[in-house]
Amino acid sequence: MMKLFYSDHFVLPLPVGHRFPMEKYRLLREEVSHYPDVTLEEAPLANIEKLLLVHDQHYVDRVIQGQLSESEQREIGFPWSQAMVKRSLRSAGATIAASLSALQNGVAVNLAGGTHHSYADKGSGFCVFNDAAITAKSIQQHQLASLNRLMRVAVIDLDVHQGNGTAAIMKTDQSVFTFSMHGEKNFPFRKENSDLDIGLPDGCQDEQYLAELGQALQTIATEFDPEFIIYLAGADPYEGDRLGRLNITKEGLGQRDEMVLQWCISRKNPVAIAMAGGYGSSIEETVAIHAQTIRKAIAFQW
Ligand SMILES: [Zn+2]
Repeated sequence: MMKLFYSDHFVLPLPVGHRFPMEKYRLLREEVSHYPDVTLEEAPLANIEKLLLVHDQHYVDRVIQGQLSESEQREIGFPWSQAMVKRSLRSAGATIAASLSALQNGVAVNLAGGTHHSYADKGSGFCVFNDAAITAKSIQQHQLASLNRLMRVAVIDLDVHQGNGTAAIMKTDQSVFTFSMHGEKNFPFRKENSDLDIGLPDGCQDEQYLAELGQALQTIATEFDPEFIIYLAGADPYEGDRLGRLNITKEGLGQRDEMVLQWCISRKNPVAIAMAGGYGSSIEETVAIHAQTIRKAIAFQW
């Protein structure tokens, strides 16, 4: 059974017309709840000590106590609320829980997460805490006693926006490899240096996208030889995405998921999957792309 961790019942109070697709998470849970071989579990809260593996204490305190300035809230894109704190802690907790489950079962999923624009000391672009960075450091801690060293973790970030927060947090950390394949002209406009970046041109199509991905996975295997994978399976490279600027088909995104999962399995690397972005003109299409990722993961269960 593959575990799917959800946190969509912590709904943020957003102003009317806000462009964050809050609804997609509930729709996705409803869609995948009928799938065979999956169990749905409520996302646990991330422990504060886990957040502090990558975040500054002062930032974490101010998020939790509601002391973010107006401009900090604007950069996150959500007005502060208790629900925002709860949801952010659950979403980070979900990726941590998925990583622990993946160690047992090969693969597990956070039905939200992929909040890769969050830095050590600030949030940005709908991201409060960086779940992938937190999870990378927390799974290393978890495995430290048995390995007697830090496990090599790779973050495969295929959201269409660069994983700038993750790259900055892990800049000097040799034990975590950050890979981001994204739209070069898209947000964030000031990119950070990941260990491997591929900036794609506007309008990029399936063939180039999949070829670049295949090369990158080979490079990561050769240069880093990861032992654990955190996969951000963003739905926003999709041709029908409002914020994506690329022209990747739904089938192309399915092939992408298969490539990543097949690579993980061939390497015997457990993989924790987070959904990351997806802002389709039609929310149903975005949900269908995320759901497709879940179906691929079911098919690739070990
Ligand atoms: Zn994105």
